[in-house]
Parts: sequence; C-alpha cells; structure tokens
Amino acid sequence: MMTIKLYDTDSHIQQFSAVVISCEEREDRRSGQVFYIVELDQTAFFAEGGGQAADRGTIIDLSGAVHAVLDVQEIKEHIYHKLEAPLTVGEKVIGQIDWAFRFDNMQQHSGEHILSGLCYAWKGYHNVGFHLGEEFTTIDFDGPLTAEEIKELEYQANQVVYRNIPITVSYPSAQELAEMDYRSKKELTGRVRIVKVGDYDLCACCAPHVMLTGEIGLIKVIRFENYKGGVRLTILCGSRAVRDYQKKNDLVYQVAAGFSTKPEKIEDVLEKQAKELEDLKAHTLAINQTLIRLKARQLIRQAKEEDGSVRFVEDLLDPVAVRSLVNHLTEQVPGHVVCLIPKKEPGEFGYIAASATEDVRNIAASLKDRFGARGGGSAKMVQGSVKGTAEEILKEI
Ligand SMILES: [Zn+2]
Repeated sequence: MMTIKLYDTDSHIQQFSAVVISCEEREDRRSGQVFYIVELDQTAFFAEGGGQAADRGTIIDLSGAVHAVLDVQEIKEHIYHKLEAPLTVGEKVIGQIDWAFRFDNMQQHSGEHILSGLCYAWKGYHNVGFHLGEEFTTIDFDGPLTAEEIKELEYQANQVVYRNIPITVSYPSAQELAEMDYRSKKELTGRVRIVKVGDYDLCACCAPHVMLTGEIGLIKVIRFENYKGGVRLTILCGSRAVRDYQKKNDLVYQVAAGFSTKPEKIEDVLEKQAKELEDLKAHTLAINQTLIRLKARQLIRQAKEEDGSVRFVEDLLDPVAVRSLVNHLTEQVPGHVVCLIPKKEPGEFGYIAASATEDVRNIAASLKDRFGARGGGSAKMVQGSVKGTAEEILKEI
C-alpha cells in the first residue's frame, strides 16, 4: 500500500489527521544520533524531489507532544518522515505543514512551470535543470535567449498570472499520454501525474502547485547567464520577488541620495560623472607632465652641484609618472638615479634605481646588505622595497 499523498489532489491542505503505519529507529552513522523514520497512511508533507526541498512542519501525537519533521523522503511511493522521537504504530496523529515555507515553494515552482511552458511553446527549448533553493530558483534551458527575449518571456509569464488560470492535475491513461505533448525531464513509467496550466504548460510533475496562477504573484527574472550552450535563469516569484523589489528600490534611492539626485536622474548623473572623470584624467596628465619637467630640472641642477647622481623621495606622482621622471633623469645625469616612494606603512618604501652608465645591481645589493631590502632587476634598472628612514637609505647610496 503506497502512502496517500494528500497534496496530490489538494495542495492547500495545511493540517491533516493520519494513522502511524510504521516507526523504525535509525542511527546517524556520523553523529551517532538516534532518530525515527515514520510512515503514515496519508500525508500532506511533500518529500524532497525534482529540485525541490522536503516540506517542513510538525506531527502532534495523541498525548499532544509536538514533533518537528526533520526530513521527508519518498521511496517507491512510500513517504517517510524523519523525527527525533518515536510514534506508536496504530496511533492517530495530526500533521501540520509549515505553510509559509510550502506556499513560498509553490509560488516559485508554479512560476517556473509558466516560464518553462511558454519557452517550450515559443522556442521549443526544454527545461533541463531546475533547482528551487531557499533564496532563489534557477532554470536551465537547452537553447540561447537574448536579454530582450528573456524580458518578453517574463512579461508573458506575468500575463498568465493576471489571467488567474486554474492549475490542474490528472493521471492520463497510457494511450492519452502517448498523444499528449507534455514536458518531461525523463522517460516515465507507471502512473504519470500531469500538471496543466491552461493552454500554457503541460508537464509531468509530482510536486504541489498553487491552485490558481494568481497566487504566484510577480514572476521576476533577476539574472541570466549562458550555460552549457543554453541559458540559466535565476528567478524570484511572489513574496520573494516583492522583497527583492523593496530591497532594490531602497538601493536605488540610496544611490540617488549619494549623487544628490532623483532615481530617474541617476543615469544622467553617471554619464556626467564619467565625462568629468575623463576630463580630470586628462588634466592630471597635463599637470603631471609639467611637474615632471619642473622636478627634473631641479634634480638635474642638484646633481650637477653634487656628485652627478640624483637621490630623492617622491610621494606625489603616480607610479607611471614616477617611472617617466626616473627615465628622463637617467638620460640627463652622468651618475645614477635613486627614487624612494613612501608606502602606506611609515618607514616602508618602494625604490627604483636606474643609470645609463653604472651597474645599478650594486645599489640593490647594498640596500639588501644594509637594510634587508628586497628586489632586483637589470644592470640599467632595479626596483624593490626597503625599510628604514629616507635619510639613512639615501645616504647609503
Ligand atoms: Zn511542478
């Protein structure tokens, strides 16, 4: 005798009475924890399957004790409930479904049917992967869709919601099935449960769905990506979609406030800022070039007055500009050029040493000996990092 699945014909049963058929003690091999596997003559608990999690809820025994249902699994049309404590065989119990969890799952699942049915009718694509997670649901289609096509699919799916069409279940005969163009992930044997959403979807499925498409609420595709030659959609339906909209709406207003503008002006502001940033970069480049020229002139003069080499700390220019300054100096002075660039941590520097006439690997070596510096390079240029005070380091080289 298989378990009577109460959700099969009425997905809105939240509470039911049943008789305990069997109760077996088991032990978790890893934790050593003891639990009980209970079979009832009938149940409204949906067992894990087809990409959807098992129902949650409680079973209340005759004494009034409430047992949390930890898991629900189906094996060969028998449904087993996992509990922490045993139930007495023959005892009459009350089952209570966690309705918020179940209804949320039904919204997601039923929304998926509509999207898949419409996509099959429109493009001939099959849903080859379905996962209903706690946060979002993914659907994998075996063909590509453009962003515009996905928007159209989403739009049409919501039209089906507004039409508030009944979702019905039937068990057709083998002959009827043979003539039916229904969606199915695998070859089916035995009794096949067909779920129909008006003229929009016909699919072999064992899960509970909402009764009317209006119960699904908003169907929203929040993300899509190319996946195995097809496309993977991430969707939210019903309350999940509403919560997501609330969060995103808040975010849009926060971003707008950050730019001191209205949400509808964000695009304009971003465009304006991008342009300003571009102008600023060009301006900075021009300033850098002037600064490089002025610094180079000053440092070259200093080198002439001293030993023909240049030693300096540079904390203003960006790395590209520093390199440009060092290159310029190297061409102009007879000795070597050493530049220290302060890092975030006080007493830590990056260094560049370059020369057209000397082997600057000697400088890297002496910085290593004296200060434990790291780095290296070619005879013409070395770079690395060094710790110490700028005065001490520059005095050494
Ligand atoms: Zn289904």
